[in-house]
Amino acid sequence: MPNKKADILNGIPRDQHYAESEGVGIIRSRRLEDEPGVTHGFTTRIGGVSKPPFDTLNLGTSRDEPMSNILENYRLLAAAYGLEYGELALVRHEHGDVILRIDRSHGGRGVALEPLDFSDGFVTNDPGVTLMTCHADCSAFFVYDPRTRSIGLAHAGWKGMFKRIGQKLCKRLADEFGADPRDMIAVIGPCICEKCFEVERELAESFAVEFDCPDIFSVHAEKPDKGYVSLRAAAVIQLLDAGVPKENISIMDLCTVEEKKLFYSYRRDGKGTGSMAAFLKLI
Ligand SMILES: [Zn+2]
Repeated sequence: MPNKKADILNGIPRDQHYAESEGVGIIRSRRLEDEPGVTHGFTTRIGGVSKPPFDTLNLGTSRDEPMSNILENYRLLAAAYGLEYGELALVRHEHGDVILRIDRSHGGRGVALEPLDFSDGFVTNDPGVTLMTCHADCSAFFVYDPRTRSIGLAHAGWKGMFKRIGQKLCKRLADEFGADPRDMIAVIGPCICEKCFEVERELAESFAVEFDCPDIFSVHAEKPDKGYVSLRAAAVIQLLDAGVPKENISIMDLCTVEEKKLFYSYRRDGKGTGSMAAFLKLI
């Protein structure tokens, strides 16, 4: 039986909430927040020093804005949420499906130190490093295995989603640390929603095939050559295919395009936009 979008998404908690510390605003999942062994967040625009159009907490290092502002934003985030600035490691994403294993020796890479090799996700079992990924409509996969105390974080735009980077992240946790997908807790970050994510019909149809879900996209009568793809459904299907139980999955149900006060959006603002970041760390 093919997947049906409503069945896939039904029953999965939308458990995000806004939190603020020292003026720095982030989105958190209650499911992951309840886990004592890990800390996480998805940043917003709120609480940084960047000037328009990057106001204010831009964490994207490839933007046309002084590096001193961006690094100050990283410092502010670290200070507000009990992270060591020198332990932050940022993925150098390329919309692929490469996943690195890192540890504390990689602390600072991509922030104050030279970038990591190209990849879109990483895993660790080392509490001495904070995993970080950058986003401006792309989603994030946060995965935590409390039994082996291992974590994985991935950046997932439509390309990464299509390449099943979330599923590969779970597999990598199993391969590296012996984690069992049945123990994993997985959270899907904010992203561009189905209503806003217009693509060519052909691409939308390839999503339907890849995820065996004919209604993973919708079509509007006035735009028959376009499709509107649910990246969230693609995310959930690949986590289920990885073996993560449905009751261990939750969604941060916020659209980066629509929530202008909270988020940067490439689709909405083009190149003149900053980046949010996801972070995940063992404690
Ligand atoms: Zn939307």
